Amino acid sequence: MTNPLLNDRDVSFLLYDVFDAASLLALPHFADHSRETFDGYIGLCARFAHETVFPAFKALDEEPPRLVDGQVFAHPCLHDILPKMREVGVFAASRPFDVGGQQLPLTIATAAHLYIMAANPAVYSFAGLSTGAAHLIEAFGSDDLKARYMTPLYEGRFTGTMALTEPHAGSSLADVSTRATPAGDHFLLSGSKIFISGGDHDLTENIVHLVLARIDGASAGIKGVSLFVVPKRRVTDGGLEGNDVKISGLVHKIGWRCLPAVILSLGEAGDCRGWLVGEPHQGIPYMFQMMNEARISIGADGVAGASVGYHESLSYAASRPQGRPVTSKDPRLPQVPILEHADVRRMLLRQKAIVEGGLGLVLQAALCADRARHAATEPERQHAQLLLDLLTPVAKSFPAEKGFESNALALQIHGGYGYTSEYLPEAWLRDQKLNSIHEGTTGIQGLDLLGRKVMAKGGAALVALETEVSAACRRAEAAGVDAAWVIAVRHAGASLNALTRELGARGSAGDVEGMLCHSADYLELFSTYAVAWQWLLQAAAAKEGLAKGGEPRDHDHLEGKLAAAQYWIRTELPKNAALVTLCRENEDSYARMKPGWF
Ligand SMILES: Cc1cc2nc3c(=O)[nH]c(=O)nc-3n(C[C@H](O)[C@H](O)[C@H](O)COP(=O)(O)OP(=O)(O)OC[C@H]3O[C@@H](n4cnc5c(N)ncnc54)[C@H](O)[C@@H]3O)c2cc1C
Repeated sequence: MTNPLLNDRDVSFLLYDVFDAASLLALPHFADHSRETFDGYIGLCARFAHETVFPAFKALDEEPPRLVDGQVFAHPCLHDILPKMREVGVFAASRPFDVGGQQLPLTIATAAHLYIMAANPAVYSFAGLSTGAAHLIEAFGSDDLKARYMTPLYEGRFTGTMALTEPHAGSSLADVSTRATPAGDHFLLSGSKIFISGGDHDLTENIVHLVLARIDGASAGIKGVSLFVVPKRRVTDGGLEGNDVKISGLVHKIGWRCLPAVILSLGEAGDCRGWLVGEPHQGIPYMFQMMNEARISIGADGVAGASVGYHESLSYAASRPQGRPVTSKDPRLPQVPILEHADVRRMLLRQKAIVEGGLGLVLQAALCADRARHAATEPERQHAQLLLDLLTPVAKSFPAEKGFESNALALQIHGGYGYTSEYLPEAWLRDQKLNSIHEGTTGIQGLDLLGRKVMAKGGAALVALETEVSAACRRAEAAGVDAAWVIAVRHAGASLNALTRELGARGSAGDVEGMLCHSADYLELFSTYAVAWQWLLQAAAAKEGLAKGGEPRDHDHLEGKLAAAQYWIRTELPKNAALVTLCRENEDSYARMKPGWF
């Protein structure tokens, strides 16, 4: 059976039955759209993913780009795929009409792009990075920069990069040391950037790097970092001319293999020109404004990778005969498909719960991004922004971390065959691992959640979340969802809130180290709770759907929802109690470890 990449029915269930995405059509910004244009774009991306991207996955994985005489050459397949991705309109799907976009809600664009990500996350990234770079110029750049660089990026004629990381400055962008020296209308850049995805290739006529650098004399730390447009080729009135951007190396990666990650050397010949974006020393706040969407996109990558793995293992489990039921060991009877073994169903249900719970979380975050920008009233926009800020580290890290577990289960279900490169689960496992590293590692997301997001504005974001969870509980009760599940979610919320207050008090009393010591455990328990909220919402929508009757096939889908909700709330959520105790008692085994004790 062909891998469906995502369950189409589930995407529509989440968008319209769980989240009522059609209500976005009432907002003036999306007034030119309709349910047909939403579904049309999703269908277009799904077809492109199935027909063009997925069939090339293995070839692209097996044959990474080459660096020859300072120029990176991408896989030949990409010369066919990239123009088609441009035709579909992926580069500017959610951007406004006046910059050449389709002005689709981020929620719809995310749902549509999930198919491409599932078919190959690295292929999608050529567009995703370009959108991110163009959006930075759109939000903060001058009209001149917009005309020269933003427009061709949104058209997909150029591609973009985010050039932040340096060999000594990865998680700690405060330590960026690339220099920018004023030289009239531009700056001369010098320094080195590493791991720059899409940093060079032969697929488009130009590449636009959005570079973090420090203007001469700027203060140390975050506040001295500025943002620059540094093109591979400068756009002049007479056409394109070379810039002093050299490729000093190609990183050999274990996943996302068709997307070149390069080491950039800026200004070796003293003539690497860059143009300041916005105000000096605002590089990090600008970057972070864009980071929310980028992090949701990484979360979507995590869900997409877990989804394609789940569907592969589901189909394998239905077709692989092995062994007999525990109640009947008669060797004369035929073997049964492994799907019939309880332990295989355990693995599949865990995958399903991670994939579809993660999908709910990611779409919920995208919906918050749409409402934060376009909701009708200021209080609604503020509420959505608070939720978005809170959910971003969770929507980024949950699919990455649990998606990796889910992809490992896909391999496990394939048994020994899964451990070979003849089958795809090992490739998806490699691809998935990146999501917990780039755009801020999981460790950094934990610190962000506990150190900033839940504590900001006197804990207002947690109050906003509580409002949402309470509404979900009421909806679940009205729909007739098992009362014990609603109680379990309410109880987990109360316990999370109490813990957060205690940890906040610990921090306010000066023990910041003690407060943050278990930030990874806090992130985990918070994520499990957030996904339980999502499962409660899905259970409510499933009950509502069952009450309406409908096709037997749809009944299976809805019953499956209830089983997965039960699994998450009854099997996973109770584990939070142990993590709460760990955080509350500040269990100090790792805090006490001295380097020499390891
Ligand atoms: C394939 C790939 C593509 C990439 N693409 C890009 C790109 O396009 N543009 C770009 O700019 N960068 C890119 N990166 C870089 C990526 O964002 C960094 O690798 C990432 O931010 C981590 O930085 P680092 O590798 O220096 O690890 P480090 O920062 O050295 O971290 C190592 C470990 O220490 C932990 N750690 C670090 N600091 C702390 C702290 N303060 N508290 C607790 N734990 C901490 C981390 O969580 C991690 O586990 C890419 C990386 C890869 C692998």
